[in-house]
Amino acid sequence: MQQPLVIAIDGPAGAGKSTLGALLAERLGYLYFDTGVMYRALTLVALQGGVDLDAPEAVEDLAERIVIEVAPPTEPDGRQYTIFADGADVTWAIRSPEVERGVSVVARYPGVRREMVRQQQVIGHRGRVVMVGRDIGTVVMPDAPLKIYLEASLDERARRRATERQQQRDMRPLDEVRFDLARRDEMDGHVLRPADDAVVLKNDGLSPEAEIDWIIDYIARNDSA
Ligand code: C5P
Repeated sequence: MQQPLVIAIDGPAGAGKSTLGALLAERLGYLYFDTGVMYRALTLVALQGGVDLDAPEAVEDLAERIVIEVAPPTEPDGRQYTIFADGADVTWAIRSPEVERGVSVVARYPGVRREMVRQQQVIGHRGRVVMVGRDIGTVVMPDAPLKIYLEASLDERARRRATERQQQRDMRPLDEVRFDLARRDEMDGHVLRPADDAVVLKNDGLSPEAEIDWIIDYIARNDSA
């Protein structure tokens, strides 16, 4: 397989998609694009503007108006990128528990998905990009030559997510993190499935570096494909 111009990474919350995506993009010199930030930014702006998340039309209307930008990091505070929503830096705010609880509701509305997918495809079609999400291989970039679907047990994902959040001084107990993840798995079930031609990687106990080596090797092994 020649170096694929678009690499799609999908899977449930906490499966390690962002860690893998960012490392892989760095190795290949590609853009790293985490599509979840768009659904999160929309949810945050809706909450801030007092939009009822249970009202599809109001949220869909906002999805068409909001301007979300993903830019290189603007602050040296450990961020992988800077997210602007209507010009405001929302990079950390979109990780709050309130956003996390509302985002899967917002992401179920067809009008929201249509608009987010459209914007994601504009970036995807430019190429040299590692795109991370839930439906990249199935809907956003179905022609991506390399699709990876990451899986890990709920316990492992909860442990990773809790540790990651503690580094950001969010001390939510493991049980609560696990509960929120299980709820999101259920809510995201409508989009969560590997594409027929995806490589499914179960990564319990596997380090991100080992995972990257496996993928780079996989690309090389399939060189004649
Ligand atoms: O990946 P992350 O946890 O940041 O995604 C937040 C939420 O956005 C997911 O739980 C899901 O509801 C939604 N999402 C989606 N499709 C994507 C990316 C994220 O529905 N491609």
